[in-house]
This record gives sequence, C-alpha cells and structure tokens, in this order.
Amino acid sequence: MTEKQTGFFDPDLPVWENYDPNAEALVAKVVFSDGPDGEFDYKVPERLRDRIAPGMRVLAPLGARNRSVVAYCVALEKRAIKEVDVPPRAHKRPASKSDATPTLFDIPEDNNVKSAETATEPSTRKSFRIKEISKLVDQTPLLSDKALEMARWLSKRYLCPLGQTLDGILPSCVRDAIGARATSVCTLANDVDARLKRVDSEKKQTLYDQLTPKQRYCLDELRRAAEPPTTAELARMAKCSTAPIVALKNLGLIVMKRTRRTSRFYDELANASKSTKRVEPHELNPDQQNALDSILDAIRNGRNDVFLLHGATGSGKTEVYIDAIEEVVSYGKQAIVLVPEISLTPQTVQRFRARLGDVAVLHSRLTELERKAEWDKIANGRAQVVVGARSAIFAPCKRLGLIVIDEEHETSFKQDVAPRYHARVVARYRAEQDKAPLVLGSATPSLESWRNAQLGGYKLLSLPRRVRDLPQPPVYAVDMRERVASGFTRGALCERLCRDIELALDDDPTNQIILLLNRRGYSTHIQCPSCGETLKCPNCDVALTHHITQQIAICHYCDYQIPAPRECPYCKFAGIKYGGFGTQRLEQEFGARFPNAPILRMDSDTTQAKDAHERALEAFQRGDYRVLLGTQMIAKGLDFPNVVLVGIVNADAALYLPDFRAPERVFNLILQAAGRAGRGDKEGKVVVQTYCPDHPAIMAAIQGDYVGFAEAELASRRALGYPPFFASVRFVIRGPDEDETREFANALAETFKRAVYEINLERGYDQKNPPPAVEPEASRDAAGRNVVSLGGPRRPRPPLLVRALGPAPAPFAKLRGAYRFHLQTMGAPGDLLREAARRVMEARDLKRPRDVQWIVDVDPLDAL
Ligand code: ADP
Ligand code: ZN
Repeated sequence: MTEKQTGFFDPDLPVWENYDPNAEALVAKVVFSDGPDGEFDYKVPERLRDRIAPGMRVLAPLGARNRSVVAYCVALEKRAIKEVDVPPRAHKRPASKSDATPTLFDIPEDNNVKSAETATEPSTRKSFRIKEISKLVDQTPLLSDKALEMARWLSKRYLCPLGQTLDGILPSCVRDAIGARATSVCTLANDVDARLKRVDSEKKQTLYDQLTPKQRYCLDELRRAAEPPTTAELARMAKCSTAPIVALKNLGLIVMKRTRRTSRFYDELANASKSTKRVEPHELNPDQQNALDSILDAIRNGRNDVFLLHGATGSGKTEVYIDAIEEVVSYGKQAIVLVPEISLTPQTVQRFRARLGDVAVLHSRLTELERKAEWDKIANGRAQVVVGARSAIFAPCKRLGLIVIDEEHETSFKQDVAPRYHARVVARYRAEQDKAPLVLGSATPSLESWRNAQLGGYKLLSLPRRVRDLPQPPVYAVDMRERVASGFTRGALCERLCRDIELALDDDPTNQIILLLNRRGYSTHIQCPSCGETLKCPNCDVALTHHITQQIAICHYCDYQIPAPRECPYCKFAGIKYGGFGTQRLEQEFGARFPNAPILRMDSDTTQAKDAHERALEAFQRGDYRVLLGTQMIAKGLDFPNVVLVGIVNADAALYLPDFRAPERVFNLILQAAGRAGRGDKEGKVVVQTYCPDHPAIMAAIQGDYVGFAEAELASRRALGYPPFFASVRFVIRGPDEDETREFANALAETFKRAVYEINLERGYDQKNPPPAVEPEASRDAAGRNVVSLGGPRRPRPPLLVRALGPAPAPFAKLRGAYRFHLQTMGAPGDLLREAARRVMEARDLKRPRDVQWIVDVDPLDAL
C-alpha cells in the first residue's frame, strides 16, 4: 500500500499532514474579477485578522507561480484548517497503515478543495495547501453585507461570475480610491503678472496682448478658482477645449502641481451650479392625488409594492414622484430615481433639486472625481436623493425608502456588457431588500410590466389626462406609397409634411419644429447601378454610410472609413449611386426648401464634445433655431413649449428588423415623439411618414391607443411563445474564422439542448409528465400541439417547454471582423433556461477554440 501510494504521487513529493482540529483559523472566501471563476478559500494571516472584513479587496497569491492578484473577500469563516503541506524533501515521512494519509483526491470538501491551482493548473501539486492572503487592498469595505448579498443574487440571476459582477456594480472611481491619490492640478506661475507684462521686442506687444480670448478667459477662471483644478476641470470651467490650457502651460503661465485632494472640493464645484431657489409644489389633480395616495400608503406601511404609473408625457408623473420622495426623505430615508441617460439633462436635475434640495447625480458624463464625490455623498447620507442613469441602481444608499424608474420601458435600462442586468429587475430586488416601494412610470410601459400589472403583481395607477387638460396632439400618417402617384418623389420629406412645416413656420415666429430621422450621415447606402454591388464594410456585414462633411464612407459599427468613391470599386462603373437619407442629407434638403428657418442637427456626430448635447438643447430652448433635426436622441424627455409640429421621417425603418420587439419599439417611438408636441399653450400635431400605414403598431400609435396596442401585441407574443410569456436566454458566439465559429456554436447548442433534457429528467419530467407551464396557452400552437421541440424527429425527446432557435448567423452576421452566430432560446418562466445555460458555462466537454468568444444574455432585449 505504501508503495502504491507513493507511486500514486510523484515519488519526490510525499505528503504530510498537519491537522489540529482545535486550531481555529480565519478563512476568507474570495472571488477574482479577472481570474478563475468561483470562490476560493484563503487563510487570513494573524496580522490581518482584526482588519479584514467582507467587501474589502485583498491581494491573494494565485497559480503555481503565486502571482499576486486582486480579489474580493466575500465572506469570512472561522474553522479548523486541515493543512496538507508539502515539506522539503528531507522531511520524508513514512506512511503508516493506520492513518489514512490524505491523497490529492480525498482532501475534504471544506478544505480549500477548490484551490486556485485546481482551477488553473491541476497538474501543479507543489503547494497544494491553503494559501494565505498577502495584503489588504482596502482599509474599509467597498460593499455592505446587503450589497454583497445583492451581488451574489445578481451573479446567479444573470449568469455572471461574482468577481466580474462586483467589478460591474462598483464604479471604477470607488475601486481606484479616487481622491485619495495625488493628482496634477493647474496653478498660476509665481511670476505670471510679470510675464504677462513683458513686451515682445519683435511684435512690440505684451504677452497678454498676444493671448487669444480663450486663453485669457482660462487665466481668469484659474484666478477665480477656489482650489486648483485639473486641466480637464479648468477646460470645463472656461468652457473650452484643453488646447488653450496647454498653450498657457507652454508659455510658462500655468504650472502643474501634484496635490492630494479630498472630494470636498468637487462637492463645491457641483454645488456652485445648483440653484437654491426652492419651488413650491403644484396642487395635484385628482388622478395624481390618487396615485400619490397609493404610493404613500405603501411607504407608510413599509410595503414593497411595485406600482406601474401609466400616464402620457405631461400627465404629471414626475410631480407625483417628487411628492412621494419628499415624504420618504422626511423620514430620513433615501430614494433613487432612474431616468434614461439621454433624459438626464440639467433641466431634469434642476427640477428635482428645486423641490428636494441636495440631489446626488450619477451619469456617465461625470469625471471619475465627480462621480466619487457623488458616491461618497450618498454613502454617508449627505444626499438623500439620487438621480441617475441605469447604474445608479447600485448607489450605496443605506436606508432606501423608495425607488422610481421613469420611462421604465426604455431599453437602455438593460446593461449590454456583463453583468447584463436590467435595472428594473435589480430595482425589484433592492426594493424587496429594504421593504421599499418601487414606482415604474411610463407613457408606454414595457409589455413585461403591463403583463405584470394585468396579473396583479404590479399595482396599476393611471394618469389618463395631461395636466391642465392639454389635448393629446393628433397624429397623422402619410402613406408614402402615394408619393409615387403624386409625382412628389424627390427628397425625404413628403408634400404633406412640407406643407405642415411651412404653415408652422409662417403661423408664428416663435413656433418650433422637431424632425426625427433615425439615421445619421448623408447617404445611407452606396450602390453601383451597373454591377449591383453595395459598398460594405470589410469588417462588418453592414453598408457604409456616406458622410458629406469629410467626404468619407464610414462604417457605423467599427469606424472603418474610406474616401467616398466616385466610381464603383468593383466594376469601375463611373455612375455609382448614393442613396438613402441620413440626417446630414435631410439637413441639406431642409435648408434648400426652407432657407430662412435656422435648423439645428443633433446626432452622435454633432454631440461628440462634452456638454455639446446640453448646449445644443439649450440653444433650441432659447429659440436660436426654428427646427431641431435629429436621431432618436431628441425623441425623449424633452420639454419645449414652442414645439407645434413633430415629423417622423422614417417611422417604419425599425419595423423590419428581425426582432419580435420591433413593433413595440416603433409604437413607443411614435408616442414618445408625439409627447414632444404641444407641451405649451399651443396646439401640437405629429406627422408620421410611413410605407405601411396599416401596420397594427402604426395604427395604434396614430390613435394613441396604448392599451389596445398592448393587448394585441401580448396576444401575439403569447401565441408565438415570446416574452413576457416565455423566459429567454440568448447566446452569441463570435470569432474570426467563420467555420470554426459555426462549429463551436453548434457544439454549444448541442450542449445546451442536452442540459435541458437532463434537467427535465432530473426533475422527473418526461414525455408523459411534462413540466408545468406557467402560461399553459403559451406552450401550444394554434393546433393545440406543444410548440416545444428539441432535436429532430430521429431523437424523440420529452416536451421540454423550451425552444432553441439556431444556432444561426446573427442578423449582424459579421461585426468588427468577427463572424457572429446566435442561439436564441425560449422556455417556460422559471429557472430551467438559466440552469441549462449555467451547465453550458461549466461544461467541461465543450472545447472553446482560443479565438472564439461567447456570451450568454439572460432576458435579452437585443436580438441583433
Ligand atoms: P410627466 O412626468 O408625466 O411628463 P410632469 O410631471 O413633468 O409630467 O408634468 C408636466 C408639466 O405639468 C410640468 O411642467 C409640471 O410642472 C406641470 N404640472 C404637473 N402637475 C401639475 C399640477 N398638478 N398642476 C399644475 N401643473 C402641474
Ligand atoms: Zn465595420
């Protein structure tokens, strides 16, 4: 036996055992954000015992070479450690028969069995024992116990490793301890005045005279600054780029200094722009009062009810949110308000501040330092109200009393990188954790939420009227097919819309117009009429867009660009055609038709610079422009009282996308746009250009009939087995080699199907005893058959209540040089799909080629 056992191991590496059942050690369970998946046990050395806490990051040795890697400590445990150590050779220990020398394979479950080595390099046995944490990265936990609990839930819910989840929910400014580090700041040179007065002998001018106005302004701003700003901050204070500041540095007028700053400075910065003017609340109308009473009832009784507040734009939803928040704040509790990033404008923030005082704001345009300041303000309770975009749902509120999600149907509430969470789902979890109500507001609720309201899970509150009884603006559809008959075929604007524009412009010099066109650029496709080829991106399977300002053809997905060709690159035919309308071209067309109406174009090309977006909206608000033309970034949440006409230039473009949510998106877009018209005292109207005026989504939008649309659309989703009746998980597989990628996608799909099959068997379901359907109707097709089928006819399988579509090339079959395949799966609500997907992630026999990547998206909103 001894022989055998030694032979079992490497003979040079005998094992000894050092086991003291009474010695209690402190064991930290850690997860890596960038390393092997899973929780690993590490021993906490004596010197760190009193300082470590869950929620801190630590440095832990990983792998055979004991690379020091940052990990999150997610739990601590006191227990006896059975150490299996590898002594130096001299310590060879004769194995006795009586004590069962532990072998590599029978180390007890609870004893570091999942060590980092087994995960990475199972063959390395040298230091097969519990390792020690070497250092603490944080002095205080970054996450509360509650936050850790949420992260664990999130990790399971969205199938994202815990370490990566933690990275995803903690902003990098918190992880990087911004503010605790030295930063470079701008200061005035000591001899700045002397330098400025110095006269240049050649130019006979003082240095000051030679400065540009921008540079002078920067110097003035720097003189005024309470504390030295960074270059970026100074640029922002002086409303310029960093170029003038760099120039001033080169002239020796500005000197950089290293300094350590606290975030207090940024608080002051943020406060400086805040108005202190408090605004009195409006007296609520009866509908608003009703809604508010229901919410207050839940707040006062500590119920975590979910409310769906359905009301058109301008029906007074925000007013209700604010009143409810006021109450929560009066109890010393905190509230989170989520709004889509795009509607998180100073206008919006101002409105909350005017009623609620100090409001923390979290959005993507903040600098790291600003974000850290806001984060700290929330964590230490100095701000009771947080207004922010999607990720603000993770704001470190200790006593949450209310969560509000405005425009809850917006797809931007779903994160598109791992963890691929939906803020609404996280909000429900947090609301439950803190026994706080959740209010979801929208003019066009997501069908998921509407369904929940129908089932009684959400309480429906309605604001059927616009405040002050402003009528909903009428929506007209123009059948673009009739243009051909009328002969008015040039350009993107139809005759009807042109006439309405003319009327609106002439009627009143203050009237304003919004035109919506969901494509940026000039021409949206470039095609050769001779050989028929379309100019496509070599990296992506999409047409190149012509941008006239730089005369380039560019890919909107990877930024590939070439000079706009004059002849066909394939057949050299000279008459290559530029077709299709982008915002640039519409801007030009509009200018030609209405030369006297100043028009402002807004799309992601014109809003690259920081604050450009806000400045453009302010200019339109001031009345500098008569017309605002833009992509969907202008469709949302804007309140311009002078807008009397909204034109939707290509309402149906999105209808034909291979996405079952396309009708919902188009319907929402039209209704949102309609909400922009007639917000003030003027009557508004909406003109929708469409090639399919009979489409149910368009017809319902014209009637402004959300409920009718929702009912019809839900019925069709039910019949087809789509969400919200079925759960959905999507896999996207991509790689540089098409065949290799397809092959792996096939293998993955097989693994998935097998997992579903096995889970059903384990749960005791088979052909005769199918799993219960939560929505029984959804599992049958029109003929009453189960719509569920997996595998072909050759392999009879139990009805699994799962459909797996694909793997098939994704609608964007190639992006940024990678071929893309996807597998869309739908299944009865519950954890079946997720459990199957989890097994796919852990499947050992699924061999992924090195350059093939794949992701799993739980409850996907993206089908492309
Ligand atoms: P929504 O959030 O549904 O778009 P708002 O709350 O923004 O609606 O209300 C639209 C406009 O009506 C705002 O300018 C708001 O100040 C005003 N308003 C809201 N409620 C009332 C009220 N009860 N009485 C008078 N004006 C109101
Ligand atoms: Zn491309």
